[in-house]
Amino acid sequence: MRNLLIFAVASIVMLSAPAGLAAGEVNLYSYRQPFLIEPILAEFTRRTGIEVNVVFARKGMIEKIKSAGANNPADAILTVDIGRLDALREADLLEPVDSAVLNANIPANFRHPDGLWFGLTTRARVALVSKDRVTPGELKTLADLADPKMQGRICMRSGKHVYNIGLIAAVIAHDGEVVAEQWLRGVKRNLARKPQGNDRAQAKGIYEGVCDVALTNHYYLGKMATNEQKPEQKRWANVVRVQFFDQNGRGQHVNISGAGIIKNASNKADAVKLIEFLASDTAQSMYASLNFEYPVKSGVKTHPLVESWGSFKIDTLDLEEIARHRDAASRLVDKVRFDFGS
Ligand code: FE
Repeated sequence: MRNLLIFAVASIVMLSAPAGLAAGEVNLYSYRQPFLIEPILAEFTRRTGIEVNVVFARKGMIEKIKSAGANNPADAILTVDIGRLDALREADLLEPVDSAVLNANIPANFRHPDGLWFGLTTRARVALVSKDRVTPGELKTLADLADPKMQGRICMRSGKHVYNIGLIAAVIAHDGEVVAEQWLRGVKRNLARKPQGNDRAQAKGIYEGVCDVALTNHYYLGKMATNEQKPEQKRWANVVRVQFFDQNGRGQHVNISGAGIIKNASNKADAVKLIEFLASDTAQSMYASLNFEYPVKSGVKTHPLVESWGSFKIDTLDLEEIARHRDAASRLVDKVRFDFGS
C-alpha cells in the first residue's frame, strides 16, 4: 500500500513537470481576453513547463497592484493599450527588463527605452465606412471627422474608452489642446447618436443605416467578417470598408497591446521568458491569426484578410508622448460633454 502511494505521488509530480524542464510559474494579470491568450499561454507552458496562472480583468487592476504594495501577487501584466502601461510606469509599479530577445524582436518605437514595457501587437484605430454611402476620398483625415460634411453620420463608442482616449491624446500631442478641443466639439456635432456600445456596435450602426462612418480598431472588422458564432456580424462587416486616416499627412494613429513586469515580481526570470515568448514568431503569428492584429516582430505575416486591406503609413509619434496627454484627453471628453452626444 505504501509503495503504491509513493508511486501515485511520483506520477503526479511527473505529470505536472515535463521531464528535463525546470518547471516554474508566472502569475499574470491580463486585460487580454481568454479566447486569445489561453492558447498562447498553453503553447508557452507546453514548451517550457512553466505554468501561467491568469487573472482576467477589465478594470481596476492598476489600483489592485498599487494597494497590494509589497504583497502584490502578480509578476506581469498584459494590457490592450499604451495608456495603462504608462499609468503603471508613472506609479512606479514596473520593473525594468534588459532582454536581448525583446530588444531584437520589438522595434524601439514600440517598447520603453528602459525596458519598463513592451509592445506586442499594434492596432490601428481606423474608420469603417459604408461602401454605399461614403465615396472614396470623402473621408481622408481625422480632421474630416469634424467637418460639416460628416454631420449626423458618425458612430462612436464612449469618448472615455481607452481606445478613444489614446486617439484624442494623439490629437492633443500633435495639435495642442486648443485645436484638439475644437476638433472634438466638431466630431461631437457630427455624431449620429449618443456614444454607446463597443467598437463592433458602431459597424452594426452602419449596417442599420444609423450612420455612415464608424471609428473602430482595425481587427474588429476581421473578427466580424469571420464570426461563425454570430453570423449577423458578417453582414455588418459586408457593408463596410476600411479607411486609414491621414495617409498624405502624419499617418494613421496606432496603439499597442503590450506587457510589463511588475516591481518585486517573485518569478521575474520566468515572467521575462513569457514576454519573450509573446514576442516570438510563434506567439506573434497567433496574435495575427487569432485576433487579426499587426505583429510587432518584423517578418511575421499578418492575417491574409488584414493584408487585403492594404498597407498604410503609420503615425510615428512617440507612444509615451501620446500617453502623456491621456489625462488631458479625458478632461477634454468631459469638458465638451462628448458622451452626451450632439
Ligand atoms: Fe479590443
